[in-house]
Amino acid sequence: MDTIITVDSVKKSFGKGDTKVDVLKGVNMSVTKGEFVSLMGQSGSGKSTLLYLIGGLDMDYEGDIVVCGNKLKGLKDKKLSEIRLKEIGFIFQFYNLVQNLNVEDNILLPAAVAGKDMGEYRKKLDEILDIVELADKRKSMPSQLSGGQQQRVAIARALLGEPSIILADEPTGNLDKESGMKIMEIFSKINKEKGMTILQVTHNEEYAKYGNRIVHLESGEIR
Ligand code: ADP
Ligand code: MG
Repeated sequence: MDTIITVDSVKKSFGKGDTKVDVLKGVNMSVTKGEFVSLMGQSGSGKSTLLYLIGGLDMDYEGDIVVCGNKLKGLKDKKLSEIRLKEIGFIFQFYNLVQNLNVEDNILLPAAVAGKDMGEYRKKLDEILDIVELADKRKSMPSQLSGGQQQRVAIARALLGEPSIILADEPTGNLDKESGMKIMEIFSKINKEKGMTILQVTHNEEYAKYGNRIVHLESGEIR
């Protein structure tokens, strides 16, 4: 089995001296390509911190993290951004959509910013809009959409670059049950049909069960 994420003895603290907080105290975890893993743990247990480290958004830690065969530590900024862009799709609790761009343009924005050839991405757009079930909303503005629909735009935006890994930090945190279930169904679909590896943080047992495996972050370690 191919390992796609390895977290090896990772320690992370914030602050110094009297205010130092040890958040991750030696986390070991590995995720196999194609897995859908749910990460649970109390508020403040370090779930977001761990996700940011795996996503290469924070490079200040002890231990090692390997993503798609690349040991993140010591990588040049350029290589790190390449890996982030190519391999990782981030989804957050808040959708971070650009309010004055319509659905299509929000989805295409990261590719446009990265200076990609847009022709190729426009072709993918139709397929992705079908996956997130927003084909009929492609010209709508974010303010015309429900929270669940806005989160599906954020998912579509993450899918456009065909990442091998989706990192989702409480993607259903702001949604009602029905909208949350829809997000879980979409995750299941992209996991099964596209073989995308998913690591999601959730507080909800029912949502967690959509994953093939549940891991718990407790007292700074995975249990
Ligand atoms: P979770 O996502 O599990 O709720 P976080 O990873 O956000 O937890 O936070 C874990 C701990 O680290 C908390 O005690 C939080 O206050 C602290 N923390 C997170 N980010 C920072 C930061 N940038 N500066 C200082 N402390 C932080
Ligand atoms: Mg968090």
